[in-house]
Amino acid sequence: MAPVMEQPAVRANGVGSKGLQAILSSPGVRGRKVTSLGATNKATNQPLLDLIQSIAMKQEQKDPFYVLDMGVVLGLWEKWNESLPMVKPFYAVKCNPEPALLSGLAALGANFDCASRAEIEAVLALGVSADRIVYANPCKSESHIRYAAGVGVNLTTYDSKEEVEKLRKLHPRCGLLLRIKGPDDGEARCPLGPKYGALPEEVVPLLQAAHAACLPVVGVSFHVGSGATQSRAYSAAIAFARSVFDTAERLGLPRMRVLNIGGGFTFGPQFAEASATIRAALKTHFPAESGVTFISEPGRFFAETAFTLATNIIGKRVRGELREYWINDGIYGSMNCLLYDHATITAQPLACWSNRVNPTCAGMGQYTSTVFGPTCDALDTVLSGVRLPELYVNDWVVFPNMGAYTAAAGSSFNGFNTAAIPTHVAYSLPPP
Ligand SMILES: *Cc1c(COP(=O)(O)O)cnc(C)c1O
Repeated sequence: MAPVMEQPAVRANGVGSKGLQAILSSPGVRGRKVTSLGATNKATNQPLLDLIQSIAMKQEQKDPFYVLDMGVVLGLWEKWNESLPMVKPFYAVKCNPEPALLSGLAALGANFDCASRAEIEAVLALGVSADRIVYANPCKSESHIRYAAGVGVNLTTYDSKEEVEKLRKLHPRCGLLLRIKGPDDGEARCPLGPKYGALPEEVVPLLQAAHAACLPVVGVSFHVGSGATQSRAYSAAIAFARSVFDTAERLGLPRMRVLNIGGGFTFGPQFAEASATIRAALKTHFPAESGVTFISEPGRFFAETAFTLATNIIGKRVRGELREYWINDGIYGSMNCLLYDHATITAQPLACWSNRVNPTCAGMGQYTSTVFGPTCDALDTVLSGVRLPELYVNDWVVFPNMGAYTAAAGSSFNGFNTAAIPTHVAYSLPPP
């Protein structure tokens, strides 16, 4: 018998897979240079570091840049569909609006959560139809509502009577999801409950207000907070949502049919736990016979691990044993995540200027080091008390997992323009 050859095409996310082909031929990717990386080595972060080194060495300016790994995005998409196949993701654009990411996700079949006119425009520009967008901002300005009505984005969230009034006036054909405040914020890194979501006693008046305005409340939505760490937040919110469905029925309103479980997901063991909890809670409160459609708004889950940031060392100072470095991105740029997203970040040295033989500095001695951002504010400190090998001006520092709430919220303070940081698109293959 002839030996059975390994067929790349049959591996779920291999090079010949439909998913990867769809990403590469999608409108936001196909015009761009895409580098094939081969199989990932999780331990060494190769071959991604090789690509970063080759981009770094070619670049006269030594400006910071991102690498977006579409292989990671594809892996996350498959992970989501294995774990929560019954829940359709609407990627939360605010987390990272890089067009190649939006385009790749759209090609895989994701829909989108937009919170403003510009986000809706960015998604429509990729050829995504308006019925694949939820306008998931409970408090919208009138001009943005008018725009949404004009382009046919017909699903939005609300948690106030004032919002009902604006929608009645400006977008009377819009379907509504009542945003509720979950009973538990799951010890989220960024709780959203203080700002959004109806309280239990507000549910009846808000359902009645929409009904009186002839706006259909088609379902319920919640967000347990970004970077939720406790999966019980989902089960508590799903149980509350069930009670809202029951309340609507008791009031004789048209049958609700959509449950939006929001975002808050982080890739890793937390995701396994959250998805198991959600599957169980949906089964209990919304069994298949209920005919309810489940949607979600993951942002961080699809963006965080897909982006790696490369920064250049532009300055250095030695004070005794302490090594201090200045890099060309910081707190007012991509690392705003340290302030706003309460993130922890890790630095990988890439001494491709000073040590071409061993650029990752494997096995070399380390010094207690501080890493500063480029602006003249002392708050602009990226890391302190970290152990790094001896690095030099023109070497690079690489930050993995920098896709969530990084570039999206950076400023151009002091003339360091975060929006100008380019993204190189690549795809790795899963480890063999
Ligand atoms: C920010 C936000 C999201 C995305 O949250 P993640 O924690 O990144 O998954 C989803 N929905 C709404 C309404 C949001 O405000």
